[in-house]
Amino acid sequence: MFTPINVDVCKTPDCKNLGVMNSPDYVVQGSNVLCQECGFLFPIISTKSLNTFRTAVNRPWKSVARQCPGCGGTSLKRNGFSAQGVQRMLCHHCNKTFVLPAHSKTTIRQAHLATLIKEGVAPAEICRTLAINNTTLGRELAHLSHQAHLAERDVGASAFDVVLSTRAFYVKFNGGNSRLYILVTAEENSGRVVAISTNYCPHPVEAEYQYHSQYEERLPPGTLMHLVQRKEMLTMRRHGVLFNIDYGPATLHRYDRGMLVKPVLPAYRHFGLVRLLIEPHSLNVQHNIDHECFILGGCLVANLADIQQGRCHISFVREWGASPPVRALPPRLFYSGGIRNNVWRTYSTRDYAMAVCNLTGCKNTHLLRHVTLKSATDFIQYVQNHSFFMYLNKMSPANLTAVLEHIKHEYNCSLLQ
Ligand SMILES: [Zn+2]
Ligand SMILES: [Zn+2]
Repeated sequence: MFTPINVDVCKTPDCKNLGVMNSPDYVVQGSNVLCQECGFLFPIISTKSLNTFRTAVNRPWKSVARQCPGCGGTSLKRNGFSAQGVQRMLCHHCNKTFVLPAHSKTTIRQAHLATLIKEGVAPAEICRTLAINNTTLGRELAHLSHQAHLAERDVGASAFDVVLSTRAFYVKFNGGNSRLYILVTAEENSGRVVAISTNYCPHPVEAEYQYHSQYEERLPPGTLMHLVQRKEMLTMRRHGVLFNIDYGPATLHRYDRGMLVKPVLPAYRHFGLVRLLIEPHSLNVQHNIDHECFILGGCLVANLADIQQGRCHISFVREWGASPPVRALPPRLFYSGGIRNNVWRTYSTRDYAMAVCNLTGCKNTHLLRHVTLKSATDFIQYVQNHSFFMYLNKMSPANLTAVLEHIKHEYNCSLLQ
């Protein structure tokens, strides 16, 4: 997660070149590469932009992650305590022992700030109450987000079989119509949010990876089958730019630092973080993800070894309505069309519909009817109904990202009550 990666590999789940770098079967075609083995194209993604983005947004996690400072390994074991009484860890990979950074004390001001956010107090009023200016508020929000990282690091997944739901959503910023692209992954059993990623980068990346909106991609209303087929068609049409979507306007103020990047970059970063936060605890992972090509790419690349060992499965899911029916419904099968023309199953009642497409391996298809993205959806609704939400919409992307990390922690704590 803290070392550079190159993701220019075949991403067809059952192809022998899945995850293989520089295969002789690869032929460059413009901005894509054709894998002659499976016959599918994958887009070239700039390692420079991807790693600039990852380095910038992963930096706050560096001092927090449960990771060996020697070799970067994440397979760790508790190993007694230091003279100061701090938990010592042993790395299974290189046998180095070290202590993890402890929880730093939350100051009275930060605790107060957390309460004010929860109560939906306006940022100007927060500044007056805490007797701080806007710059200090930004710094305090960054601290709050750091505290959230520390607190969330140790929770881990609660079971050996983990089901994770990933969805994209948008939040307006800077008081206008600009929106931030956000990915959230939550654990389906506990509801706990594992990680969030946004497309804001504190440092600029290559101009080609800056997000621009020309024509917002909108899907007309219809059944899930129509939505799936329409989405596949859109993906096929922007074949030359498979790594891009247009989700509508998003521009920074001239004085905002950094850049908004194409959502493909956060997708690849996101699943690396998810893996780091759940890996030590889980044996089998099922990823249910939004129907989007590059979200699949990010999920595949982060979990290559586990997919090849059959310990990680990925499905595209679309869901409509809140409460899945209790009784079993018969599936209807359809083909998605588009480049891959996958088989999807759809289950529906009058007020609920779900469509799912299994992308890795052959799993028990009768279990597919229970698939849901509920845990991720619940968090998105929590954010949208939060009493601070209207002020989030007025914040800079940097502060918005920090507050979201804090709200994630607030949300996870609320699940335990
Ligand atoms: Zn291939
Ligand atoms: Zn190590």
